[in-house]
Amino acid sequence: MIQKIKDTFFGFAVGDALGVPVEFRSREDIAKNPVTDMREFGTHHQPKGTWSDDSSLAFCLAESLATPINSTKKAIYDINDIANNFVKWKYENFWTPHGRVFDIGIATTDAIKRLKKGENPLLAGGIDEYSNGNGSLMRILPLIFYKGYLFEDSIKRRFELVSEVSSITHMHFRSVFSCFIYTEFARILLEQTQKKEKQDKFLAYQKLQVLITDFATEFDFNKTEITLFDRILKNNITTFEEETIKSSGYVLHTLEASFWCFMKYDSYSESVLKSVNLGEDTDTTGCVTGGIAGLFYGMNTENNEKGIPKEWLEVIVKKEDVNNLCERLYDLNF
Ligand SMILES: [Mg+2]
Repeated sequence: MIQKIKDTFFGFAVGDALGVPVEFRSREDIAKNPVTDMREFGTHHQPKGTWSDDSSLAFCLAESLATPINSTKKAIYDINDIANNFVKWKYENFWTPHGRVFDIGIATTDAIKRLKKGENPLLAGGIDEYSNGNGSLMRILPLIFYKGYLFEDSIKRRFELVSEVSSITHMHFRSVFSCFIYTEFARILLEQTQKKEKQDKFLAYQKLQVLITDFATEFDFNKTEITLFDRILKNNITTFEEETIKSSGYVLHTLEASFWCFMKYDSYSESVLKSVNLGEDTDTTGCVTGGIAGLFYGMNTENNEKGIPKEWLEVIVKKEDVNNLCERLYDLNF
């Protein structure tokens, strides 16, 4: 399990860092000189291997799940503590790559400002339909390594956990449900390893579709909202043409793009490079694709050429801190 945590964390950080230098550039523009390797400078003038707000906030979430409270040696899920780490990130540069926040979304800014004024974390996120950026999806993945999520048999309880953690910044159902589809997919992939089954992303995708569709029917969620997810849940997302896969900052676009890239391509590099080369919100599409691709393909070794390339891992900023965070998260939860 410790290796899976590292595969996932470095998976999203590398995907994020590949996307940072070309963020906001259009697909057509990037196509003139596609990203094939780690770059430096570009959009945010950052050195090679620099991850952005996506990974920062994911690390902030993990930090909370990796910190024992009152030296109990037990992982404690504390929504106030998670929210407090987000505030520390924005105002005290906690878990920033170079001691400074250089990128932040509008909904996240607004929510963190409300938290700073003392708002309840469960009510801090944007609730209207237009507050459905990918700002909670991009940072939700570490939640799967919280034992209270991973080993929780009740799907309703797992949904509640995702809903709470998303709601700190993004409270609308569409954001919450996107996060849930993503974390459940990761959980199913992780389960294959735990049960020593064959690692099969196609089987996992089928299982996910049944699980989520049944859950949505049982709890009678708003049909108009659920229908928005048909391309992922009722169809095979890889059958759609690239022109129909958008890569803006809208949560549904990011979810579709990451599923499309992960399911369609057969290695970490191919999936993540494709996601970055889709353009626009490149760091987040890279991060969301990279998290799940890292979890599935692991790190590149002699016997595993599909894993995260060594050269990319080596340049990741604060890689020792990330390694240490993964180990602390493991110690407290497994
Ligand atoms: Mg970012």
